[in-house]
Amino acid sequence: MKLVFLGPPGAGKGTQAEVIGRALNIPHISTGDMFRKAMREGTPTGLKAKAYIDQGQLVPDSVTIDMVKERLSEDDCKNGYLLDGFPRDVHQAEALAGFSQLDAAVNIAVADEKLIARLSGRRFCPKCSGTFHISALADAKVCPNCGGELVQRQDDNPATIANRLNVYHTQTSPVTAFYAQKGILKEVDGDQPMEGVTAAILKALAVNL
Ligand code: AMP
Repeated sequence: MKLVFLGPPGAGKGTQAEVIGRALNIPHISTGDMFRKAMREGTPTGLKAKAYIDQGQLVPDSVTIDMVKERLSEDDCKNGYLLDGFPRDVHQAEALAGFSQLDAAVNIAVADEKLIARLSGRRFCPKCSGTFHISALADAKVCPNCGGELVQRQDDNPATIANRLNVYHTQTSPVTAFYAQKGILKEVDGDQPMEGVTAAILKALAVNL
Protein backbone atom coordinates (compact mmCIF):
# COMPACT_ATOMS: atom_id res chain seq x y z
CA MET A 1 0.00 0.00 0.00
CA LYS A 2 1.32 3.44 -0.93
CA LEU A 3 0.18 5.97 1.64
CA VAL A 4 0.73 9.51 2.82
CA PHE A 5 -0.20 10.83 6.25
CA LEU A 6 -1.29 14.46 6.32
CA GLY A 7 -2.10 16.71 9.25
CA PRO A 8 -0.67 19.63 11.23
CA PRO A 9 2.56 19.38 13.25
CA GLY A 10 1.77 17.52 16.47
CA ALA A 11 -1.26 15.67 15.06
CA GLY A 12 0.45 12.34 15.70
CA LYS A 13 1.49 11.52 12.13
CA GLY A 14 4.88 10.16 13.18
CA THR A 15 3.53 8.01 16.02
CA GLN A 16 0.72 6.59 13.88
CA ALA A 17 3.00 6.09 10.87
CA GLU A 18 5.36 4.03 13.03
CA VAL A 19 2.54 1.73 14.24
CA ILE A 20 0.69 1.43 10.92
CA GLY A 21 3.93 1.01 8.93
CA ARG A 22 4.88 -1.91 11.15
CA ALA A 23 1.37 -3.43 10.95
CA LEU A 24 1.31 -3.22 7.14
CA ASN A 25 4.99 -4.15 6.78
CA ILE A 26 5.87 -1.06 4.76
CA PRO A 27 8.64 1.46 5.50
CA HIS A 28 7.75 4.62 7.41
CA ILE A 29 9.46 7.50 5.63
CA SER A 30 9.54 10.78 7.54
CA THR A 31 11.10 13.70 5.67
CA GLY A 32 11.55 15.52 9.01
CA ASP A 33 13.54 12.52 10.37
CA MET A 34 15.59 12.39 7.15
CA PHE A 35 16.45 16.08 7.52
CA ARG A 36 17.29 15.76 11.24
CA LYS A 37 19.61 12.81 10.48
CA ALA A 38 21.25 14.76 7.65
CA MET A 39 21.75 17.73 10.00
CA ARG A 40 23.31 15.53 12.70
CA GLU A 41 25.66 14.03 10.10
CA GLY A 42 26.46 17.44 8.57
CA THR A 43 25.70 16.30 4.99
CA PRO A 44 25.13 18.89 2.21
CA THR A 45 21.36 18.28 2.48
CA GLY A 46 21.51 18.79 6.25
CA LEU A 47 23.45 22.03 5.89
CA LYS A 48 20.96 23.37 3.33
CA ALA A 49 17.94 22.36 5.44
CA LYS A 50 19.05 23.66 8.85
CA ALA A 51 18.22 27.37 8.49
CA TYR A 52 14.71 26.59 7.21
CA ILE A 53 13.97 24.00 9.89
CA ASP A 54 15.20 26.28 12.69
CA GLN A 55 12.77 28.96 11.44
CA GLY A 56 9.84 26.56 11.02
CA GLN A 57 9.81 27.20 7.27
CA LEU A 58 9.66 24.58 4.53
CA VAL A 59 12.95 23.33 3.11
CA PRO A 60 12.98 24.27 -0.61
CA ASP A 61 11.35 21.80 -3.00
CA SER A 62 14.59 21.59 -4.99
CA VAL A 63 16.14 19.75 -2.01
CA THR A 64 13.09 17.87 -0.69
CA ILE A 65 11.56 16.39 -3.84
CA ASP A 66 14.79 14.76 -5.08
CA MET A 67 15.48 13.37 -1.61
CA VAL A 68 12.03 11.69 -1.52
CA LYS A 69 12.22 10.48 -5.12
CA GLU A 70 15.54 8.81 -4.40
CA ARG A 71 14.26 7.23 -1.18
CA LEU A 72 11.14 5.81 -2.88
CA SER A 73 13.30 4.20 -5.56
CA GLU A 74 14.94 1.97 -2.96
CA ASP A 75 14.10 -1.74 -2.85
CA ASP A 76 12.15 -1.69 0.43
CA CYS A 77 9.54 0.63 -1.14
CA LYS A 78 8.62 -1.81 -3.94
CA ASN A 79 5.55 -3.13 -2.11
CA GLY A 80 4.52 0.18 -0.63
CA TYR A 81 5.53 2.91 1.78
CA LEU A 82 4.08 5.35 4.25
CA LEU A 83 5.15 8.97 3.79
CA ASP A 84 4.96 11.20 6.86
CA GLY A 85 5.58 14.93 6.38
CA PHE A 86 5.56 14.82 2.59
CA PRO A 87 3.94 16.29 0.54
CA ARG A 88 3.93 19.60 2.45
CA ASP A 89 2.49 21.73 -0.37
CA VAL A 90 0.56 21.23 -3.61
CA HIS A 91 3.72 21.49 -5.73
CA GLN A 92 5.23 18.54 -3.83
CA ALA A 93 1.95 16.60 -4.22
CA GLU A 94 2.04 17.17 -7.99
CA ALA A 95 5.69 16.13 -8.14
CA LEU A 96 4.93 12.93 -6.18
CA ALA A 97 2.09 12.09 -8.58
CA GLY A 98 4.69 12.25 -11.37
CA PHE A 99 6.81 9.43 -9.93
CA SER A 100 4.48 7.32 -7.77
CA GLN A 101 0.81 6.33 -7.59
CA LEU A 102 -0.76 6.61 -4.13
CA ASP A 103 -3.51 4.34 -2.78
CA ALA A 104 -4.67 6.73 -0.07
CA ALA A 105 -3.93 9.97 1.77
CA VAL A 106 -4.94 9.94 5.45
CA ASN A 107 -5.59 13.33 7.06
CA ILE A 108 -5.25 13.30 10.86
CA ALA A 109 -7.15 16.37 12.09
CA VAL A 110 -6.49 18.12 15.43
CA ALA A 111 -7.42 21.70 16.48
CA ASP A 112 -4.61 24.28 16.90
CA GLU A 113 -5.11 24.80 20.68
CA LYS A 114 -4.42 21.10 21.30
CA LEU A 115 -1.40 21.11 19.00
CA ILE A 116 0.43 23.84 20.91
CA ALA A 117 0.19 21.85 24.18
CA ARG A 118 1.25 18.65 22.41
CA LEU A 119 4.25 20.21 20.66
CA SER A 120 5.61 22.10 23.65
CA GLY A 121 5.56 18.93 25.82
CA ARG A 122 7.05 16.72 23.13
CA ARG A 123 10.33 14.84 23.59
CA PHE A 124 12.28 13.10 20.83
CA CYS A 125 14.74 10.20 20.88
CA PRO A 126 17.51 10.79 18.30
CA LYS A 127 18.57 7.13 18.65
CA CYS A 128 15.28 5.39 17.65
CA SER A 129 13.29 8.43 16.38
CA GLY A 130 10.58 7.74 18.99
CA THR A 131 8.38 10.68 20.02
CA PHE A 132 6.71 11.00 23.42
CA HIS A 133 4.77 13.51 25.49
CA ILE A 134 6.21 14.40 28.91
CA SER A 135 2.84 13.63 30.53
CA ALA A 136 3.27 9.96 29.57
CA LEU A 137 6.90 9.56 30.65
CA ALA A 138 8.12 8.21 33.99
CA ASP A 139 11.50 9.87 33.32
CA ALA A 140 11.45 12.83 30.92
CA LYS A 141 15.08 12.20 29.93
CA VAL A 142 15.10 8.48 29.07
CA CYS A 143 13.54 6.88 25.98
CA PRO A 144 11.12 4.13 27.13
CA ASN A 145 11.74 2.24 23.85
CA CYS A 146 15.52 2.08 23.62
CA GLY A 147 16.95 3.78 26.72
CA GLY A 148 18.42 6.61 24.60
CA GLU A 149 18.59 10.18 25.89
CA LEU A 150 15.44 12.16 25.12
CA VAL A 151 15.76 15.71 23.83
CA GLN A 152 13.39 18.53 22.96
CA ARG A 153 13.41 19.23 19.23
CA GLN A 154 14.91 22.65 18.52
CA ASP A 155 11.86 23.57 16.45
CA ASP A 156 9.46 22.72 19.31
CA ASN A 157 9.84 26.21 20.88
CA PRO A 158 6.91 28.69 21.00
CA ALA A 159 8.07 31.03 18.19
CA THR A 160 8.89 28.20 15.77
CA ILE A 161 5.69 26.31 16.67
CA ALA A 162 3.69 29.43 15.68
CA ASN A 163 5.55 29.62 12.34
CA ARG A 164 5.03 25.93 11.66
CA LEU A 165 1.28 26.17 12.30
CA ASN A 166 1.11 29.19 10.02
CA VAL A 167 3.04 27.35 7.28
CA TYR A 168 0.69 24.40 7.75
CA HIS A 169 -2.47 26.49 7.30
CA THR A 170 -1.20 28.48 4.32
CA GLN A 171 0.86 25.91 2.41
CA THR A 172 0.11 22.36 3.59
CA SER A 173 -3.62 22.24 4.29
CA PRO A 174 -4.52 22.75 0.56
CA VAL A 175 -2.91 19.33 -0.05
CA THR A 176 -6.01 17.69 1.52
CA ALA A 177 -8.22 19.28 -1.17
CA PHE A 178 -5.77 18.02 -3.81
CA TYR A 179 -6.28 14.41 -2.65
CA ALA A 180 -10.01 14.86 -2.03
CA GLN A 181 -10.33 15.81 -5.70
CA LYS A 182 -8.49 12.63 -6.65
CA GLY A 183 -10.96 10.64 -4.50
CA ILE A 184 -8.31 9.10 -2.21
CA LEU A 185 -8.59 11.31 0.91
CA LYS A 186 -9.50 9.61 4.23
CA GLU A 187 -10.36 11.90 7.14
CA VAL A 188 -9.55 10.73 10.68
CA ASP A 189 -10.19 12.45 14.04
CA GLY A 190 -6.77 12.80 15.69
CA ASP A 191 -8.18 14.15 18.94
CA GLN A 192 -8.65 10.83 20.73
CA PRO A 193 -6.38 8.32 22.50
CA MET A 194 -3.58 6.94 20.36
CA GLU A 195 -5.15 3.46 20.00
CA GLY A 196 -8.42 5.05 18.86
CA VAL A 197 -6.62 6.99 16.11
CA THR A 198 -4.83 3.81 14.97
CA ALA A 199 -8.15 1.92 14.81
CA ALA A 200 -9.78 4.80 12.90
CA ILE A 201 -6.94 4.83 10.34
CA LEU A 202 -7.11 1.06 9.79
CA LYS A 203 -10.89 1.31 9.39
CA ALA A 204 -10.55 4.19 6.90
CA LEU A 205 -8.06 2.09 4.91
CA ALA A 206 -10.37 -0.95 5.15
CA VAL A 207 -7.57 -3.02 6.67
CA ASN A 208 -8.44 -5.94 8.96
CA LEU A 209 -5.48 -7.14 10.99
P1 AMP B 1 8.45 17.36 10.79
O1 AMP B 1 9.35 16.45 11.56
O2 AMP B 1 7.64 16.66 9.75
O3 AMP B 1 7.61 18.24 11.70
O4 AMP B 1 9.41 18.36 9.97
C1 AMP B 1 10.30 19.24 10.63
C2 AMP B 1 10.74 20.31 9.66
O5 AMP B 1 11.43 19.72 8.54
C3 AMP B 1 9.62 21.13 9.04
O6 AMP B 1 9.18 22.19 9.88
C4 AMP B 1 10.30 21.64 7.77
O7 AMP B 1 11.19 22.70 8.05
C5 AMP B 1 11.14 20.43 7.36
N1 AMP B 1 10.37 19.53 6.46
C6 AMP B 1 9.92 18.27 6.73
N2 AMP B 1 9.29 17.76 5.67
C7 AMP B 1 9.32 18.71 4.70
C8 AMP B 1 8.81 18.79 3.38
N3 AMP B 1 8.10 17.79 2.83
N4 AMP B 1 9.03 19.93 2.68
C9 AMP B 1 9.74 20.94 3.20
N5 AMP B 1 10.23 20.95 4.45
C10 AMP B 1 10.03 19.84 5.20
